Amino acid sequence: MNTFVLATANAHKANEMRAVLEGLGIELLERPAHVAEVQEDADTLEGNALLKARALVDATGQPAIADDTGLFVDALDGAPGVFSARYAGENATYADNVVKLLKSLEGVGEAERTARFRTVVVVAYPKGEPLIVEGSLGGSISDEPRGDQGFGYDPVFLPEGGGGRSLAEMSPEEKNAISHRGRALRTLAQALAQR
Ligand code: IMP
Repeated sequence: MNTFVLATANAHKANEMRAVLEGLGIELLERPAHVAEVQEDADTLEGNALLKARALVDATGQPAIADDTGLFVDALDGAPGVFSARYAGENATYADNVVKLLKSLEGVGEAERTARFRTVVVVAYPKGEPLIVEGSLGGSISDEPRGDQGFGYDPVFLPEGGGGRSLAEMSPEEKNAISHRGRALRTLAQALAQR
């Protein structure tokens, strides 16, 4: 059994990670409350995921797992990308970010609203090289939010093959089956099994 300390304090992400990794032989331990929040100041998803995972290894002495995710919108030259959490400002809420995204895409036609979620998952160890995997999900940005499941940009993201539904209109199981995070985590489980 692989056991990792979970670097994220975000309950939405933690729930999705547990749901996917449960049954794949990977156990997640809660992030200890005393560990300070990590400054995510790298300029890549991989860099930020490494920072978060390493901080937890340093604090606990145990292997740790972290994910970093961005939404890359083609018509915005890849924005919000690595800055997805802070798109509308330092203390932006999910709703603020969605409003800013829709405003930025005003006047952009359906065919030009293509986008991709990318997730990088890192497992870091007290000794040795980290394991780094990635998952992505293509789709497009709707012109208004729909659905109340999921989190973040889910209400405005229409995944490929989703029949026009947003990720926030899908059950957690449906989202995990196709999502960037679900794909990265299943790739991670395969990589761990081959070690
Ligand atoms: P983080 O830096 O990995 O925590 O994620 C950056 C931002 O991307 C979050 O604040 C969310 O707004 C958004 N995000 C991350 N994962 C998802 C997802 O699965 N669906 C929708 N938005 C997400």
